[in-house]
This record gives sequence, C-alpha cells and structure tokens, in this order.
Amino acid sequence: MSFPVPRGSLPLLAAAVLAAAAAPEFRARHGPDLILPGPGVNAERRLSEWLPALEGGAGDTPVFVLTGDAPGGTALVLGGTHGDEAAGYLAAVVLIERARVKAGRLIVIPRANASGFTHNIGQEAHPSSFLVPTPAGPRRFSYGARATNPVHQWPDPQVYTHAGSGQTLSGSETRNLNRAYPGLADGSLTERIAFAITELIRREGVDLAIDLHEASPEYPVVNTIVAHERAMDLAALANVNLQAQGIEIGLEASPANLHGLSHREWGDATPALALLVETTNPAQGRLRGRTDAALVVEGRDRFYVEAAARGRLSVPFPETGWPIDVRVARHFATVRELLAVAGELQPERAVAIEDVPTYEAVTTRSVGAFLQAPPNTTPRSQP
Ligand SMILES: [Zn+2]
Repeated sequence: MSFPVPRGSLPLLAAAVLAAAAAPEFRARHGPDLILPGPGVNAERRLSEWLPALEGGAGDTPVFVLTGDAPGGTALVLGGTHGDEAAGYLAAVVLIERARVKAGRLIVIPRANASGFTHNIGQEAHPSSFLVPTPAGPRRFSYGARATNPVHQWPDPQVYTHAGSGQTLSGSETRNLNRAYPGLADGSLTERIAFAITELIRREGVDLAIDLHEASPEYPVVNTIVAHERAMDLAALANVNLQAQGIEIGLEASPANLHGLSHREWGDATPALALLVETTNPAQGRLRGRTDAALVVEGRDRFYVEAAARGRLSVPFPETGWPIDVRVARHFATVRELLAVAGELQPERAVAIEDVPTYEAVTTRSVGAFLQAPPNTTPRSQP
C-alpha cells in the first residue's frame, strides 16, 4: 500500500524544500554589511538624496561624508561599483572607518552598486562573502557580482544601447554600472544609480572623483590608473611618485570613444577630474584554479604563477600571490598620492586627509588592523 502522490508534485515538493533551505542565505545576502563609521565621519547620507526615486530600493546606498575644519575642495571615492572587486570595496570601508580630513571634504560611497552585492556571477563558484581578520576577530564582507542583480532589474535586452551615445554592447551590460554613466533619471535601476552618482558629483562640487576597481591578472589594464584627459597631468605626476616609492603602476588614457565608464563620463559631464584605479584580483580571472574566499583574501594561485612564468599575464604573479592587503595598500597609496598632487596643483581646492594607513603599514600589519572593532568586542591582540 502506498500513499497517493499527485503526478508531478514531487519536483514541486523538492523545490519547496530546497527553497526553504536556501531562504536564510538568500535573505542574509540582501542585508548590508556592517560598516562602522570612524571619528572622521560627520554625516551619513543616502544616494537617494540625489535621486529620490531610488529611496528605499535596491539601488539606494549609504554615502559617508568626512569634512575637515579647514576649507578646501571635495574628493569622491567610490568602492563597490563591481561587487566582485573586493579590494576597492574594502579600501573604501577602511577610509570610512579610519580616515580623518584636515582640509576640504571627502565623500565615500563604499557600495556604489548595492544590488551587485546581493548575488554572485552565475557558474563562477565565487564565495558569497569573505572574512578579514581584525584584532577583535574576523569581520565579514559580501563578495558580489559585476552587475545589478537580475532580481532587481530584468529582463536584459539582446543589445544594450548606452543612452547618451547610442553605443551598443551585449545585453548583459545593461546592468553594469560602469557602462551606464552619466545615467538617466527615469532609466533602468542601473541607469538611475549612475544618474544619482553623477548628480552628486555635480551638486556637491566634486573636484576629484576616484573609482576603485579590480581586474583579473590577464586583463591588460590592471595595476593601473585610467585618467580622463583633464586628469592626465594629475595622474602622471601621481604615477611617477608611486613608482618612486617602489609601487609599479601603469597609466592609461580614458578612450574618448568608450562610453558609459566613470573615467569618461564623469569627466565629460561634470567639472570633476575623473580617474579609475585597478588592482589585481585572481578570483576574477579565467586561469584560476580553486575558487573560494581564501583566493579572494590571500590571492595565491599556482596556475597564475605558471602563467606568469610563461609570460601570459599583464602583471607579475609571485608564489605569495596578490593578497588583499597588498591590493588595498595599493589603493590607499594611489588615493593618497592623487589627493596630494591635486592639492599641489590647486592648493585652494586641496583635500588633506590623515590616518590613511601607509602602504608599508597595511602590507606589514594587514588591512584588518585598520578596521574598527565590532561593538561588544575587545581586542585579542595587536597583529
Ligand atoms: Zn570593475
């Protein structure tokens, strides 16, 4: 004797069980990571302030403002344009938790495309998060995807047409924030996020706008500053200073005919000097082996060591890899140098920051040493 089961109901039942099991993970991914504003932050705003249509939705995201006592200019640092580029995100978080501004104003958006942090790229086996050790225990950060979550913007067209230029790209690029600038107030979610960021740059009088990214070791534009033509003098001087400190870094001109990118459109649409900075993230590459949170944090991969030995990469790839400490340290060194040189070129618009850890400090003590301790924890030991 058997219990009567309606035809076709078993797959439905199995789907319901799997959905119930996955629900906590799904819900957890839609909550923001803990970010603990440090003593330098004097205002926390929301991106929807510059486009109210974003309010309360998946594209709204915190905007942290650090203002100095002395007058000066305004700089914007963006992390998390692409949720799978962990060092740019983490560098922005440490600026919020650690930096102080003496003159001028620093605006930091750590999760520029917040929706991108709520999912992973399909079939990449990426982790959903990674842990950064700190003196008070590990801090968890989301590892997301390159594009807006299709749950929030769907379906993709066959061909994505950039609103301002008519440039056409693959349909999936419709959800890429860094192909959507200067954005559209009544466009797709991604275009609206882009519009709000461009509006912020315009209305807040941003002088210098820096977009922090990562790319795979085999990508030609990596460990590089990409500069709009108006920012090229600034980028070239900063590049020379970084090389003098032993930090090998390239310099690329923003292509005039490649539309939708921050370093092109911010520079064209606003008075800001627009730059993008890339570090090396082996978790994004095609040649990588085992893919997990350790690869994101430690950046070691024997297949990349072999590829470098055969001259197949754009960057060296030592056995010690490209740990997130080195990648974040490079972002800090570059931001610090860009701000310093911009202040020399235009002293009345200088943004003077302090308490941004040096390259040496981050690479020797690890980036977690510069994050705030979570509430109700006591430091275990200084690393
Ligand atoms: Zn990117």
